[in-house]
Amino acid sequence: MNREALERVLAEAECLADEARVLAAIDAMGHVIAQDLRELNPLVLTVMTGALIPAGLLLARLHFPLQMDYVHASRYGGATIGSELRWLAKPRTPLAGRHVLLIDDILDTGLTLAAIIAWCREQGAASVRTAVLCEKPDARQPGGLAKADYVGLTIPNRYVFGYGLDYQEYWRNAPGIYAVKGL
Ligand code: 5GP
Repeated sequence: MNREALERVLAEAECLADEARVLAAIDAMGHVIAQDLRELNPLVLTVMTGALIPAGLLLARLHFPLQMDYVHASRYGGATIGSELRWLAKPRTPLAGRHVLLIDDILDTGLTLAAIIAWCREQGAASVRTAVLCEKPDARQPGGLAKADYVGLTIPNRYVFGYGLDYQEYWRNAPGIYAVKGL
């Protein structure tokens, strides 16, 4: 897609949550996460690439000792879990005995996070929690994670971009959560 077409996508998109609303949602998530994890020396794993921006904003609001690392994985096609993950990067930090917080951009079918959680448990994590910037409540598939522990925004079942979420690998930098026109 050329630049004009990409700019048209943003101009025509519907803004579901503007910057102020996204930041308020991240503030609220940060408060609850701090209450729950402050004393647990958590290992926070950002699920790349979509969670890059939400994780950066969230982590800057957590004022207690924690470590961070990242995972980059996608599912092979189909409704598969566990070993069916295609790994692009695994965390270097050992997970054994750690309280893990996974941060992802969106909970859609829930299959990717279910598979990453299963892998964290295999590595011996003491607990695994999940934080997502957005959730689509009506999109879950069998075997998918039903509910995240911490949710920023509940959005309609549409294709969205911005704040880390991509539109054809562009507009992860869009300053809001936008629904693509017609999708
Ligand atoms: P799952 O379907 O396994 O819950 O979601 C896997 C991944 O699909 C998400 O982490 C996200 O990267 C991508 N995804 C799901 N819904 C959307 C969407 O509406 N917009 C974008 N850009 N990505 C999505």
